[in-house]
Amino acid sequence: MKSAKLNILHARQLLTIAGPARARRGPELRELGIIQDGAIAIRDGVIEWVGPTDKLHDRTAPEFDASGKVVLPGFVDSHTHAVFASTRGDEFEWGLQGVRYMDILAGGGGILSSVNAGRQSPALRVRFADQFLKHGTTTIEAKSGYGLDLETEIRMLEAMRLEPGLDVVSTYLGAHALPPEFRDNRSGFVDRVIDDLFEIQARRLAEFCDVFVEPGVFTPAEAIRIFGKAKSLGMHIKIHADEFQSSGGAALAVEMAATSADHLGAISDSDIGRIAASRVVATLLPATLFMLGQNQYAPARQLIDSGAAVALASDFNPGTSPTLNMQFVLSLACTQMRMMPAETIVASTINGACAVRRQDRLGSIEPGKQADLAIYDVADYREIPYFAAVNFCVATFKRGELVWGAK
Ligand SMILES: [Zn+2]
Repeated sequence: MKSAKLNILHARQLLTIAGPARARRGPELRELGIIQDGAIAIRDGVIEWVGPTDKLHDRTAPEFDASGKVVLPGFVDSHTHAVFASTRGDEFEWGLQGVRYMDILAGGGGILSSVNAGRQSPALRVRFADQFLKHGTTTIEAKSGYGLDLETEIRMLEAMRLEPGLDVVSTYLGAHALPPEFRDNRSGFVDRVIDDLFEIQARRLAEFCDVFVEPGVFTPAEAIRIFGKAKSLGMHIKIHADEFQSSGGAALAVEMAATSADHLGAISDSDIGRIAASRVVATLLPATLFMLGQNQYAPARQLIDSGAAVALASDFNPGTSPTLNMQFVLSLACTQMRMMPAETIVASTINGACAVRRQDRLGSIEPGKQADLAIYDVADYREIPYFAAVNFCVATFKRGELVWGAK
């Protein structure tokens, strides 16, 4: 359906998520802006008009009938590691046999086995880009970090530019793990990551700089050195923070004015207060903990009730979170973290857009925004998390163009 004009008509529920172009907090996370029998007029890839179908005046455009279906903004999956060379089903089995993830990493597996594969792969690219679109995700963030040397990190970041359908926001994660050749020289590796930032920024390869801050990976002090340089070069900050242990990652995110602090499975009570009082988006990744078989999830209710700007993302990666289905992430957010269905949708649309600084263009269905939409064959939006692990997305539009589903 390639046309400069398109009308989508008769949506049983059109979830606009209309409101200010900023992160939603507290009770705002339940405001979906639903229009019954809703219509959208799209012109040149941009949303021109939104309202009830019987109020749509210009009926000359090609039409897409969404009768009986639910229409959402495309998901903005703001935390993935979608560029990787090989899968890790073997480590999945080791985990089931009782080996802890941090022990697999310490033994040269985990991230380091993906690094090994990444360095050897001549043709890195975003994996399963079509599957993201089929599951209703129209924008992802993707991180480097499976190279840990400048050449491979650059190849990973360049691969993110190659996707025609999916928008990919790129993040340099040079400090994802300590590579084997620097095992006895931590400060030398941090110096090298800082040096490499100049080249990454000179080539305009990444909008964000991220560091995995966790005991056994990188310390807050090491992250501060890297982030200081990244900020001086004009990059924005994301942090892998407090995933398994509380180690000051969330507090560091506030101190560094990061765009987002991600994971937060072990955030302390005092850091919940800090993050809630800040502009940092708290990005929660329940699929990771689910696939690791853990039962301690990020305290989503406490974060929301304290006023934090909560987002949800898949953390799609070949080790700890091999799912890219945001509908399933919504199910997990409801059942494992007691988020309400409406909150999960706002957290993965407008708040996801805030986590990649795209809230002016993405994350809601309002005039002026990019026409990124997904249509679900369900009767009520609550059935999206309710029908767990099944894909009910039947059509996806990217900039007003049908990229998945039948006309
Ligand atoms: Zn991650």
